[in-house]
Amino acid sequence: MRDEIRTLYRTFGPPKSMGVTPIDDAHPLFFLVRQFLNEVDLAILFNTKRCRYQCRFCALPAQSSLTWIDEDKVLSQFLYVINEARHALGVLNRITIANEGSVLDFDTFPREALEKIITYSEEILGLKKIVLETRMEFVNDEILNNIKSKTRRKIAILAGFETLDPEIRSNILGRRQDVSIFESGIEVLGRSKTDLIAYVLYKPSPLMTDSAARIEASTTIDFLAAACKRNGVNLTIRLNPMYAATGTPWHDEAMAAGDAYSPPLLSDVVEVAKEKRARGIPVYLGLTSEGRATNNTTYKAHPGHTKESLKQAISMNMSLAG
Ligand code: SF4
Repeated sequence: MRDEIRTLYRTFGPPKSMGVTPIDDAHPLFFLVRQFLNEVDLAILFNTKRCRYQCRFCALPAQSSLTWIDEDKVLSQFLYVINEARHALGVLNRITIANEGSVLDFDTFPREALEKIITYSEEILGLKKIVLETRMEFVNDEILNNIKSKTRRKIAILAGFETLDPEIRSNILGRRQDVSIFESGIEVLGRSKTDLIAYVLYKPSPLMTDSAARIEASTTIDFLAAACKRNGVNLTIRLNPMYAATGTPWHDEAMAAGDAYSPPLLSDVVEVAKEKRARGIPVYLGLTSEGRATNNTTYKAHPGHTKESLKQAISMNMSLAG
């Protein structure tokens, strides 16, 4: 029986595997009930039309559909997840709606489905926050005001900023997004009292040294904190130790760099997160490679990596006091 319980935990608990092809259009790419910073979150990766961007470091859209998936199918995905998570509905206080792209890009995610999901989520009484993952390009006043008219819950936008460095943004990551676009998005969030959870990539260039990575991550977080403060936006940082996603140009460049490439040192990532927390900036860590990398191309492959730093990072993610 012990083996069976271990297997169930690994299959359906935090180690649940991502990157599995969905059975059909009525099933999502992934979902998980998880705890982040004192919140019990139901994270859903909807199976919708593929992200229209091709960032050089990202393999996420590869398993998404090349064709449009209509409102009914997306709602079926939602109902399927709610059924699967039914015994945890009473403890949920957050739902994260994502699709390996941008849920506010209505050329990929049916707008009617999103509005209904938000409206129907009112039935989950303990829910306090709805998190929407999107690029900042798709955030505007009309969309946010419309979403807010459908729910009494707090809305947060989850968006990738990655790095402040323009050269890395453009040439290494292929973001195709000026910093000014992200700043304009923060202004929109400020006007509608919407929170921001921003992804920052730790060591976003394969050729970056460990010491340069610490400085770069710190500078990027400080920039976001200042922009959010100016606009009255509550900011949370998700600091993601960079992994080389198999099949991406970023991965190939890292491999071609030979000994000049090393993944991030997790103990450094933890230290930067602690420094920022001490200054009042909530930071948690993205510890998964989302099923897109091997252990040779994540922080686990850094020669200085220790299990102790991983335990510390996991504990930090449970609560801001951790
Ligand atoms: S990082 Fe985001 S915008 Fe870029 S390809 Fe991946 S999912 Fe699309």
